[in-house]
Amino acid sequence: MFHSSFLIQSKDLVNLPLLAYSTGMLPLALFYPLFGLAAGSFLNVCIHRIPRKESIVLPGSHCPNCGTGIRPYDNVPLFSYLWLRGKCRSCKAAISARYPLVELMTALGFYACAAAWDFSPPTFVNSLFISIVIALVCIDYDHQILPDVITLPGVLAGILLSPFQSQSFFRDALSVRLVSALIPANPESALPCAGSILGPLLGGSFLYVPALLYEVVRKKQGLGMGDVKMMAMVGAFIGWRMAFLTIFAGSLLGSVVGIFLVLFRGRSFQSKLAFGTFLGGGAMLALFFGLPALRWYIDVQLTK
Ligand SMILES: [Zn+2]
Repeated sequence: MFHSSFLIQSKDLVNLPLLAYSTGMLPLALFYPLFGLAAGSFLNVCIHRIPRKESIVLPGSHCPNCGTGIRPYDNVPLFSYLWLRGKCRSCKAAISARYPLVELMTALGFYACAAAWDFSPPTFVNSLFISIVIALVCIDYDHQILPDVITLPGVLAGILLSPFQSQSFFRDALSVRLVSALIPANPESALPCAGSILGPLLGGSFLYVPALLYEVVRKKQGLGMGDVKMMAMVGAFIGWRMAFLTIFAGSLLGSVVGIFLVLFRGRSFQSKLAFGTFLGGGAMLALFFGLPALRWYIDVQLTK
């Protein structure tokens, strides 16, 4: 069934550059980011309310300063911010630039998914993945927590949606051997399931084991369990190899930013950075560039 064993197949790779649409998709490609803006607007509600344990449905959007309900025509993603010039219509309090920024980032993420997977099912799976990551990044940045109500359903969503994900994320040596041993008649059918279950187990362990060792050695907590659960979610969506790359890229990003803050902003080495924020950045790099990077590594480095 697997002719090239575990090597990534070129047909499974995402289309790079990100502007490569097949013909006929252009109208959809222009329309789809608008869904991203709307999704981003909902993410803003989640980011604000979930850490405060408020309902994400009721009451409707209101100004956090004066409490006035926001009228539908003032609640258009991105554009309302522009025509209200960043101020509440009633009390003129400044609206955080974070709101339009989150909406814009989500729209860009949706656009990139549509370009990379050309409106095949992975486009929608990864749009959801990006939305979850954006919510976690902002909540961790604001409150230094990664809520279970996002990470744990995220793990489940990743596993349940795995048949619709790009299968190259799960075509790794371990998953392939596992399904070949368990279901020799039709291993391909079980690959997404095996990959998306190994993903959270290994993705979570990559962080859990070092965190446990750190606690044993230093007798204090270095990493939160929220980070471990976030990595389980990443593994469920994009497999254990991309989870590993996420941690690698996230640590690198965190170190660079940390050193910058120490050198130029007078922060101490002990000051706490929200690791989940950097893991989110790492996950985005892994999602779009991880497989090509891995294939480059296998082709260029291992076949020297
Ligand atoms: Zn107001």
